Amino acid sequence: LIVLESVNKWFGPLHVLQDVSLSVARGEVVVVIGPSGSGKSTLCRAINRLEPINSGTITFDGQPLAAEGRALAKLRSEVGMVFQSFNLFAHKTILQNVMLGPIKVRKEKQAVVRDRAMGLLERVGIANQAEKYPAQLSGGQQQRVAIARALAMQPKALLFDEPTSALDPEMVGEVLDVMTSLAREGMTMVVVTHEMGFARHAANRVVFMADGQLVEQAPPEEFFANPKSERARDFLSKIL
Ligand code: ATP
Ligand code: MG
Repeated sequence: LIVLESVNKWFGPLHVLQDVSLSVARGEVVVVIGPSGSGKSTLCRAINRLEPINSGTITFDGQPLAAEGRALAKLRSEVGMVFQSFNLFAHKTILQNVMLGPIKVRKEKQAVVRDRAMGLLERVGIANQAEKYPAQLSGGQQQRVAIARALAMQPKALLFDEPTSALDPEMVGEVLDVMTSLAREGMTMVVVTHEMGFARHAANRVVFMADGQLVEQAPPEEFFANPKSERARDFLSKIL
Protein backbone atom coordinates (compact mmCIF):
# COMPACT_ATOMS: atom_id res chain seq x y z
CA LEU A 1 0.00 0.00 0.00
CA ILE A 2 2.87 2.34 0.89
CA VAL A 3 6.20 1.98 -0.90
CA LEU A 4 9.27 4.15 -0.35
CA GLU A 5 12.26 3.61 -2.59
CA SER A 6 15.66 5.19 -1.93
CA VAL A 7 14.10 8.24 -0.34
CA ASN A 8 16.46 11.10 0.50
CA LYS A 9 15.64 14.24 2.37
CA TRP A 10 17.87 17.09 3.45
CA PHE A 11 17.16 19.98 5.77
CA GLY A 12 19.89 22.28 4.51
CA PRO A 13 23.13 20.37 5.11
CA LEU A 14 21.41 17.80 7.31
CA HIS A 15 20.73 14.50 5.54
CA VAL A 16 17.68 13.41 7.55
CA LEU A 17 16.49 10.52 5.36
CA GLN A 18 19.27 8.56 3.72
CA ASP A 19 18.25 6.13 1.01
CA VAL A 20 15.27 4.92 2.97
CA SER A 21 13.35 2.06 1.37
CA LEU A 22 10.31 0.63 3.11
CA SER A 23 7.10 -0.98 2.04
CA VAL A 24 3.98 -1.39 4.07
CA ALA A 25 1.41 -3.91 2.92
CA ARG A 26 -2.32 -3.44 3.25
CA GLY A 27 -3.39 -4.36 6.77
CA GLU A 28 0.14 -4.30 8.09
CA VAL A 29 1.16 -2.55 11.30
CA VAL A 30 4.69 -1.16 11.21
CA VAL A 31 6.19 0.34 14.34
CA VAL A 32 9.07 2.77 13.82
CA ILE A 33 11.52 3.22 16.66
CA GLY A 34 14.86 4.93 17.05
CA PRO A 35 16.72 7.68 18.88
CA SER A 36 15.62 11.29 18.92
CA GLY A 37 16.51 13.06 15.68
CA SER A 38 16.83 9.85 13.68
CA GLY A 39 14.19 10.96 11.16
CA LYS A 40 11.10 9.10 12.35
CA SER A 41 8.76 12.10 12.21
CA THR A 42 10.20 13.19 8.88
CA LEU A 43 9.53 9.71 7.50
CA CYS A 44 5.90 9.84 8.65
CA ARG A 45 5.43 13.34 7.32
CA ALA A 46 6.93 12.39 3.97
CA ILE A 47 4.33 9.65 3.52
CA ASN A 48 1.43 12.08 3.39
CA ARG A 49 3.55 14.76 1.83
CA LEU A 50 3.58 17.15 4.75
CA GLU A 51 7.28 17.07 3.93
CA PRO A 52 8.50 17.00 0.31
CA ILE A 53 11.45 14.71 -0.41
CA ASN A 54 14.57 15.51 -2.44
CA SER A 55 15.01 12.23 -4.26
CA GLY A 56 13.62 8.71 -4.45
CA THR A 57 9.99 7.76 -4.84
CA ILE A 58 7.03 7.23 -2.59
CA THR A 59 3.90 5.58 -3.89
CA PHE A 60 0.61 5.17 -2.11
CA ASP A 61 -1.87 2.62 -3.40
CA GLY A 62 0.15 2.31 -6.59
CA GLN A 63 0.30 6.03 -7.33
CA PRO A 64 3.18 8.45 -6.84
CA LEU A 65 2.35 10.95 -4.10
CA ALA A 66 0.46 13.92 -5.43
CA ALA A 67 2.22 17.24 -4.96
CA GLU A 68 -0.70 19.63 -4.98
CA GLY A 69 -4.33 20.39 -5.60
CA ARG A 70 -7.18 17.95 -5.51
CA ALA A 71 -4.94 14.91 -5.75
CA LEU A 72 -3.02 16.02 -2.67
CA ALA A 73 -6.25 16.59 -0.77
CA LYS A 74 -7.32 13.07 -1.75
CA LEU A 75 -4.01 11.66 -0.53
CA ARG A 76 -4.36 13.46 2.80
CA SER A 77 -7.87 12.10 3.24
CA GLU A 78 -6.66 8.58 2.49
CA VAL A 79 -3.67 8.76 4.82
CA GLY A 80 -4.82 9.92 8.24
CA MET A 81 -2.35 11.28 10.72
CA VAL A 82 -2.41 11.41 14.50
CA PHE A 83 0.18 13.60 16.22
CA GLN A 84 1.63 13.86 19.68
CA SER A 85 -0.29 17.11 20.18
CA PHE A 86 -3.90 16.35 19.42
CA ASN A 87 -4.50 19.51 17.34
CA LEU A 88 -8.24 19.59 17.99
CA PHE A 89 -10.14 22.79 17.27
CA ALA A 90 -10.64 24.36 20.69
CA HIS A 91 -13.76 26.31 19.79
CA LYS A 92 -15.57 23.33 18.29
CA THR A 93 -17.26 20.48 20.14
CA ILE A 94 -15.88 16.96 20.07
CA LEU A 95 -18.57 15.91 17.60
CA GLN A 96 -17.91 18.95 15.38
CA ASN A 97 -14.19 18.18 15.40
CA VAL A 98 -14.85 14.66 14.14
CA MET A 99 -17.38 15.81 11.52
CA LEU A 100 -15.34 18.67 10.11
CA GLY A 101 -13.10 16.85 7.61
CA PRO A 102 -15.78 14.85 5.82
CA ILE A 103 -18.03 17.92 5.57
CA LYS A 104 -15.45 20.55 4.60
CA VAL A 105 -13.08 18.47 2.52
CA ARG A 106 -15.34 15.77 1.14
CA LYS A 107 -18.60 17.74 1.03
CA GLU A 108 -20.46 14.78 2.50
CA LYS A 109 -23.98 15.11 3.87
CA GLN A 110 -24.31 16.34 7.45
CA ALA A 111 -26.62 13.53 8.57
CA VAL A 112 -24.45 10.77 7.15
CA VAL A 113 -21.32 12.26 8.69
CA ARG A 114 -23.00 12.76 12.05
CA ASP A 115 -24.00 9.09 12.22
CA ARG A 116 -20.52 7.98 11.29
CA ALA A 117 -18.91 10.40 13.74
CA MET A 118 -21.13 9.22 16.61
CA GLY A 119 -20.29 5.62 15.71
CA LEU A 120 -16.60 6.42 15.84
CA LEU A 121 -16.89 8.26 19.15
CA GLU A 122 -18.70 5.17 20.44
CA ARG A 123 -15.87 3.01 19.20
CA VAL A 124 -13.19 5.07 20.95
CA GLY A 125 -15.32 5.14 24.09
CA ILE A 126 -16.31 8.81 24.32
CA ALA A 127 -19.72 9.12 22.70
CA ASN A 128 -21.02 10.58 25.97
CA GLN A 129 -18.62 13.55 25.63
CA ALA A 130 -19.73 14.48 22.10
CA GLU A 131 -21.10 17.91 23.03
CA LYS A 132 -18.15 18.94 25.19
CA TYR A 133 -15.18 21.05 24.08
CA PRO A 134 -11.62 19.66 23.86
CA ALA A 135 -10.42 21.55 26.95
CA GLN A 136 -13.06 19.74 29.02
CA LEU A 137 -11.52 16.35 28.19
CA SER A 138 -8.43 14.62 29.51
CA GLY A 139 -5.40 14.21 27.26
CA GLY A 140 -6.19 10.54 26.69
CA GLN A 141 -9.75 11.39 25.73
CA GLN A 142 -8.58 14.15 23.39
CA GLN A 143 -6.20 11.78 21.67
CA ARG A 144 -9.01 9.27 21.20
CA VAL A 145 -11.05 12.06 19.60
CA ALA A 146 -8.10 12.77 17.30
CA ILE A 147 -8.12 9.11 16.26
CA ALA A 148 -11.88 9.22 15.66
CA ARG A 149 -11.38 12.37 13.60
CA ALA A 150 -8.77 10.66 11.44
CA LEU A 151 -11.06 7.63 10.99
CA ALA A 152 -13.98 9.86 9.98
CA MET A 153 -12.26 10.39 6.63
CA GLN A 154 -12.32 6.62 6.11
CA PRO A 155 -8.58 6.51 5.45
CA LYS A 156 -6.77 3.59 3.82
CA ALA A 157 -3.89 4.02 6.24
CA LEU A 158 -3.16 5.80 9.50
CA LEU A 159 0.14 7.33 10.57
CA PHE A 160 0.80 7.91 14.26
CA ASP A 161 3.68 10.08 15.43
CA GLU A 162 4.29 9.45 19.12
CA PRO A 163 0.56 9.51 19.91
CA THR A 164 1.04 8.83 23.62
CA SER A 165 4.18 10.84 24.35
CA ALA A 166 2.33 13.89 25.60
CA LEU A 167 0.01 11.93 27.86
CA ASP A 168 0.11 11.34 31.58
CA PRO A 169 1.11 7.71 32.19
CA GLU A 170 -2.33 6.65 33.36
CA MET A 171 -3.85 7.70 30.03
CA VAL A 172 -1.42 5.94 27.74
CA GLY A 173 -3.19 2.59 28.02
CA GLU A 174 -6.59 3.79 26.86
CA VAL A 175 -5.09 5.24 23.67
CA LEU A 176 -2.96 2.16 23.00
CA ASP A 177 -6.06 -0.01 23.49
CA VAL A 178 -7.86 1.89 20.72
CA MET A 179 -4.81 1.57 18.47
CA THR A 180 -4.49 -2.13 19.21
CA SER A 181 -8.09 -2.76 18.29
CA LEU A 182 -7.64 -0.84 15.03
CA ALA A 183 -4.59 -2.98 14.30
CA ARG A 184 -6.57 -6.16 14.96
CA GLU A 185 -9.34 -4.95 12.65
CA GLY A 186 -6.85 -4.77 9.81
CA MET A 187 -6.10 -1.05 9.56
CA THR A 188 -2.83 -0.31 7.82
CA MET A 189 -0.75 1.61 10.35
CA VAL A 190 2.67 3.20 10.63
CA VAL A 191 3.31 4.02 14.27
CA VAL A 192 6.24 5.97 15.66
CA THR A 193 6.30 5.17 19.36
CA HIS A 194 8.46 4.46 22.38
CA GLU A 195 5.84 2.04 23.70
CA MET A 196 7.66 -1.24 23.29
CA GLY A 197 4.70 -3.19 24.69
CA PHE A 198 2.62 -1.96 21.78
CA ALA A 199 5.43 -2.83 19.35
CA ARG A 200 5.63 -6.35 20.75
CA HIS A 201 1.92 -7.06 20.77
CA ALA A 202 0.44 -5.12 17.89
CA ALA A 203 3.18 -4.72 15.29
CA ASN A 204 3.76 -7.04 12.36
CA ARG A 205 7.14 -5.46 11.88
CA VAL A 206 9.49 -3.18 13.78
CA VAL A 207 11.63 -0.72 11.86
CA PHE A 208 14.67 0.71 13.60
CA MET A 209 16.02 4.05 12.42
CA ALA A 210 19.23 5.84 13.39
CA ASP A 211 20.85 8.93 11.88
CA GLY A 212 18.42 9.07 8.98
CA GLN A 213 18.96 5.46 8.00
CA LEU A 214 16.65 2.53 8.19
CA VAL A 215 19.08 0.30 10.05
CA GLU A 216 17.04 -2.86 10.40
CA GLN A 217 13.56 -4.24 10.26
CA ALA A 218 12.13 -7.47 11.55
CA PRO A 219 9.05 -8.98 13.18
CA PRO A 220 8.92 -7.82 16.82
CA GLU A 221 9.69 -11.19 18.38
CA GLU A 222 12.81 -11.45 16.23
CA PHE A 223 13.85 -7.82 16.62
CA PHE A 224 13.57 -7.72 20.40
CA ALA A 225 15.09 -11.15 20.95
CA ASN A 226 17.94 -10.72 18.52
CA PRO A 227 18.61 -7.20 17.22
CA LYS A 228 21.24 -7.50 14.52
CA SER A 229 22.90 -4.10 14.58
CA GLU A 230 25.04 -2.67 17.32
CA ARG A 231 23.01 0.53 17.20
CA ALA A 232 19.73 -1.28 17.76
CA ARG A 233 21.23 -3.25 20.66
CA ASP A 234 22.54 -0.03 22.17
CA PHE A 235 19.16 1.70 21.74
CA LEU A 236 17.25 -1.21 23.29
CA SER A 237 19.64 -1.40 26.23
CA LYS A 238 18.83 2.22 27.02
CA ILE A 239 15.08 2.01 26.82
CA LEU A 240 14.18 -1.48 28.04
P1 ATP B 1 12.19 12.67 17.90
O1 ATP B 1 12.28 11.29 18.46
O2 ATP B 1 12.91 13.65 18.74
O3 ATP B 1 10.80 13.09 17.55
P2 ATP B 1 12.65 12.12 15.08
O4 ATP B 1 13.28 10.79 14.88
O5 ATP B 1 11.20 12.23 14.86
O6 ATP B 1 13.05 12.64 16.52
P3 ATP B 1 12.85 14.16 13.07
O7 ATP B 1 11.88 15.08 13.70
O8 ATP B 1 12.39 13.43 11.86
O9 ATP B 1 13.43 13.12 14.12
O10 ATP B 1 14.14 15.00 12.73
C1 ATP B 1 15.26 14.48 12.06
C2 ATP B 1 16.33 15.56 12.01
O11 ATP B 1 15.87 16.62 11.17
C3 ATP B 1 16.64 16.19 13.35
O12 ATP B 1 18.02 16.43 13.39
C4 ATP B 1 15.87 17.48 13.35
O13 ATP B 1 16.50 18.45 14.12
C5 ATP B 1 15.88 17.85 11.87
N1 ATP B 1 14.67 18.58 11.45
C6 ATP B 1 13.40 18.19 11.58
N2 ATP B 1 12.54 19.06 11.05
C7 ATP B 1 13.29 20.08 10.57
C8 ATP B 1 13.01 21.30 9.89
N3 ATP B 1 11.75 21.64 9.58
N4 ATP B 1 14.05 22.09 9.56
C9 ATP B 1 15.32 21.74 9.84
N5 ATP B 1 15.67 20.60 10.47
C10 ATP B 1 14.67 19.77 10.84
MG1 MG C 1 9.64 12.87 16.04
